[in-house]
Amino acid sequence: MIQLFIPLNFLGFVYREIREALINIERLFRLTEVPPRVVDRPGAKALRPRGGEVRFEGVSFAYGPQRPILKEVSFTVPPGGKLAIVGPSGAGKSTIARLLFRFYDVDAGCIRVDGEDIRDLTQDSLRAAMGVVPQDTVLFNDTIYYNIAYGRPDATPEAVHRAARLAHLEGFIQSLPEGYDTLVGERGLKLSGGEKQRIAIARVLLKDPPLLVLDEATSSLDSQAERSILEALSEVAAQRTTLAIAHRLSTIRDADNILVLEQGRVVEQGRHEDLLTAGGLYARLWHRQQAGAEEGPLPASGPGA
Ligand code: ADP
Ligand code: MG
Repeated sequence: MIQLFIPLNFLGFVYREIREALINIERLFRLTEVPPRVVDRPGAKALRPRGGEVRFEGVSFAYGPQRPILKEVSFTVPPGGKLAIVGPSGAGKSTIARLLFRFYDVDAGCIRVDGEDIRDLTQDSLRAAMGVVPQDTVLFNDTIYYNIAYGRPDATPEAVHRAARLAHLEGFIQSLPEGYDTLVGERGLKLSGGEKQRIAIARVLLKDPPLLVLDEATSSLDSQAERSILEALSEVAAQRTTLAIAHRLSTIRDADNILVLEQGRVVEQGRHEDLLTAGGLYARLWHRQQAGAEEGPLPASGPGA
């Protein structure tokens, strides 16, 4: 893209117009989760979610030819189970979420939902079964109401308001002159990272999908808001298969299983207490955060870390 922009640069406003159009197209792709690379195979069938078991079987993946990102990643989340994924920044955590959503296809191995290879399923049915709170939420150029109701267009206003309340958005929305009808997004009111994140959380609470993927879902919130929103989320998650990528390890210590990822490999796996006893990477990250380094993202670990 950079290469495309440089020659356009001296065209002045034309450049700006085109650049904005490109950014919007890119946003649209991210937003509607229509990856240009992945297409339904002929005869793909609709997922009829049963328990929502998620299984990664020896999954390897690279965005480009030069650099492997995930290396033979395997795990199983039983129906209704809670898996937390932790690890230094750049380890490949968000990539796992993107592959499950089928933004990209795996290079080796297989991802199964309720036993079905997701490449055999229609993307629409796969995505209908999943709710994602991404690391960084992009909103539609539309009202707050629309942005929350998007996951479930037939929802009643009461249900939309309830989701907003659980996501701690109600006070904020009431403070706006146009309330739920306030336009947000690129051409509307600019929201903070935390506000956008809460809209994404309200959307997922309303959608109430069988599969829940939380990618550092509360990282932009202060710890008080985080605590009560996590409570609301755990209510939804109670009956749901959940993959939670965690930034603050204190938020996932109750997970059934914690996957520790380093440079694209699963280096440890287990429950919080067991991982602490094992004294490996998880224990080091935990003690570092306990010592007060909670705020920033987990640092990337070098080869010797
Ligand atoms: P994490 O979520 O653990 O911080 P990611 O899964 O986002 O890590 O990224 C893993 C690695 O893949 C990083 O080195 C990142 O730079 C790279 N990466 C992520 N997205 C892309 C992309 N779209 N194209 C190329 N490389 C990418
Ligand atoms: Mg990430």
